[in-house]
Amino acid sequence: MYKTIADIKKALGSGKTASSILEEHLHLAKEKSSLNAFVEIFEDTSRQAARLIDNKIKQGKAGRLAGVILGIKDNICYKGHKVSAASKILNNFESIYTATVLQKLIDEDAIVIGRLNCDEFAMGSSNENSFYGNVNNNFNEEYVPGGSSGGSSVAVSAGLCTVALGSDTGGSVRQPASWTNTFGLKPTYGSLSRYGLIAYASSFDQIGVFSNSIEDSQLIFEITRGKDPMDSTSSSRNIESKSVETEKLRIGVVKEYMSHEGIDSEIKLKLENLKSILDSGNIKVVECDFPYLDYLVPTYYVLSTAEASSNLSRFDGVHYGHRSANASGVDDTYKKSRSEGFGVEVKRRIMTGTFVLSHGYYDAYYTKAQKVRRIVKNATDAFFKDVDVLVFPTTPSTAFKQGSVNEPITMYLQDIFTVHANLTGNPAISIPFGIHSNGMPFGLQIMSDRFNEEKLFSYSKILNSYF
Ligand code: GLN
Repeated sequence: MYKTIADIKKALGSGKTASSILEEHLHLAKEKSSLNAFVEIFEDTSRQAARLIDNKIKQGKAGRLAGVILGIKDNICYKGHKVSAASKILNNFESIYTATVLQKLIDEDAIVIGRLNCDEFAMGSSNENSFYGNVNNNFNEEYVPGGSSGGSSVAVSAGLCTVALGSDTGGSVRQPASWTNTFGLKPTYGSLSRYGLIAYASSFDQIGVFSNSIEDSQLIFEITRGKDPMDSTSSSRNIESKSVETEKLRIGVVKEYMSHEGIDSEIKLKLENLKSILDSGNIKVVECDFPYLDYLVPTYYVLSTAEASSNLSRFDGVHYGHRSANASGVDDTYKKSRSEGFGVEVKRRIMTGTFVLSHGYYDAYYTKAQKVRRIVKNATDAFFKDVDVLVFPTTPSTAFKQGSVNEPITMYLQDIFTVHANLTGNPAISIPFGIHSNGMPFGLQIMSDRFNEEKLFSYSKILNSYF
């Protein structure tokens, strides 16, 4: 099984072709179909791409990702291929253009093997909200992989692709990465183009990367980042490329995160051990106060549902997507197409978002949440005057059994440690931290200052060497 880009390079170097590597992945993906990671495998177009890349390799003209097998979350557009955001409302819809981030990877000769299952419109923390059924965790198929990019995380963890794209609006890359033992990167808001990503909450959404090594996350980030004229929120700001000064390492540990009552005791112990090992080494550990932890999830759910209610209004049965066969007249078409096309969780969020934006409640919810977002951002910026990175758990616990969390608030609280970086726009990564005695993995989250991914990668490598 191939885990990393280095494994692919090694195989190509020892005489294998991109086509034969692809065939091995296609075979494995079929063998592991019980995981339900793929919504669709692009057999024909991936084979065509592999043949072209083999020619380029022969001519010495291949790109940096030659032969790398790439999976894409089913909310990223790829021209001529279906994309549905795992929703009935977009079932059979075909992309008419390719997302910028994906195009950059294709230009470097990555092979797109297929589209990966996820929660409908990226709303969920367990991948139990997909029109195409649940994704099963490869560590134990009775358990959820996390969400919303559950298919992407499982596909990378199980070796069905080398790297995968996901999207992270409130933790949808980092949380499933934590629960599948993979590396999950959410870059700085604006550092990667969102052109071609189906919008959920536009001021939070960011395309992210799943991989099996820090080096791979770093390479994919370097290839995909940058200003895009098609996305006005993408930034032309340069990423700081200064690597950290190893004699002056400073890590922040947030007291309220460490002492949170919801953290599983084994995860907590592992964190405390790490803290004391770091303390006794040449890394300065700074204790930080963050009195806003309890406000993060409510603020995120007010603002993200408000944005979702606006973004999802375009799915009306008229412009594109599912149109009810039982409707007569415009209003009836809107109502029936949306009622039939959206799942329960998406409807819940559209209604919540419409409520918080409604006349009479706007100031009490939406405006207030915007103010809290600003306070959280200012407090977070202040941390990075004293420390290079903050570390905290990615998730309070390991993955749960499918069907065991039925109540929305409990589900929303799975994001308690991940929504922070989306509210503030900071980059954050989840790296594998250990395997629990229950057999399931969990991750460690590292957050750095905006546009300072370099520090994330450096610290990930350093911290990785401690466990
Ligand atoms: N789990 C969060 C939610 O349900 C995050 C989703 C995401 O990042 N796309 O909104």
